[in-house]
Amino acid sequence: MTSITSDALPRRIPLAEPLLHGNEWKYVKDCLDTNWVSSVGSYVDRFEQMLAQRAGVRHAVACVNGTSALHVAYMVAGIGADDEVMMPALTFAAPAFAARYVGAWPLFIDVDRTTLTIDPVSVRDALVTACEVRDGHLVNKQTGRRVRAIVAVDLLGHPADMDALRAIADEYRLCLIEDAAESLGAVYRGLSIGSKSDVACFSFNGNKIITTGGGGMLVTNNASWAERARYLTTQAKDDPVEYIHNAVGYNYRLTNIQAALGVAQMEQLDAFVAAKRRIAERYRSALAGIPGIRVPQEAPWAQSTYWLYTIGVDPKTFGMTSRELLKMLTSDLIASRPLWHPLHSLPPFVGCTAHRVAVADEWYASGLSIPCSVGLSEEDQHRVCEAIRHAARTAS
Ligand SMILES: *Cc1c(COP(=O)(O)O)cnc(C)c1O
Repeated sequence: MTSITSDALPRRIPLAEPLLHGNEWKYVKDCLDTNWVSSVGSYVDRFEQMLAQRAGVRHAVACVNGTSALHVAYMVAGIGADDEVMMPALTFAAPAFAARYVGAWPLFIDVDRTTLTIDPVSVRDALVTACEVRDGHLVNKQTGRRVRAIVAVDLLGHPADMDALRAIADEYRLCLIEDAAESLGAVYRGLSIGSKSDVACFSFNGNKIITTGGGGMLVTNNASWAERARYLTTQAKDDPVEYIHNAVGYNYRLTNIQAALGVAQMEQLDAFVAAKRRIAERYRSALAGIPGIRVPQEAPWAQSTYWLYTIGVDPKTFGMTSRELLKMLTSDLIASRPLWHPLHSLPPFVGCTAHRVAVADEWYASGLSIPCSVGLSEEDQHRVCEAIRHAARTAS
């Protein structure tokens, strides 16, 4: 059959698709065979234990997705109406949306040019120049709102500089929350990510490094926060017989079927990260020499998961913009995607402060994520590199 179609168009190469070739079927079948399909079950417990162990923390609470985990993280950290949380302007919007769920507002900070994670120098600069202490509270001078937390997003799988952020958080008595949705399997100064923050959140959406179809997890060393998170995510039942609720509850629990997928995927995490890092290494050696292409770099203290492999395209040297390259790749049936629109200029965040976010804007213009599925073949990867080289020749 393949010989008949071999002259036809090549196969479309997706950006990042899941790989479900381990024990997924077996464990899901086990859920169906035993009738344990809903939000209680042994796979939920096992999945939570695996995540806690991996992150090196004591407690893990499964959630329906990463966004709900962030929502619960803000609630247990006591962040509420008219508080502000410092976060990078360049990120997927979930940590900013979740802030709004509790009535809080983002205070947008710039990202580091190399790691694309929140820049500790910019965080400190914002605290020194844009904030002041009023009545014993740290407030944003422009809005008058209390600043309560730093949200570190490990963007594209590269860890944020947690020690530097921790020092600032301690000095200003801020909570340190980690959005690790893209960085499960990454290493910060020899440690798995997730233990350096007060609370960290993971996502198991279909395009993440491991997937449960949809899912999330909150991890923390704080026992009372973990207990509160479990309470809030399970409808805040104070008496499960009489149905007494002393707080507004949420139905944020992950099902056993999803957790069964998660356990099977966790068994393969190390292999997935190794595959991503091999792909990154091959891209680096193939693309680093092309004028106007910037390949991602790791900080000396980090091992990235290279969740989405993202190049920077300098139109002056490369000869076309990242969006023009995207169009050329699309016509070659190769998926690619720009980085997220910086949040500070989007309608839901009008009225938020953005503190000197030039690097976020630059990376938004130049960034392009290219195919990096765990299962990407060397042949397909070669096709992507050739297409970029071809674009470079066309442009110059
Ligand atoms: C994917 C993602 C989330 C949200 O996860 P969902 O499971 O899709 O809700 C949060 N933050 C970042 C940085 C993400 O990439």
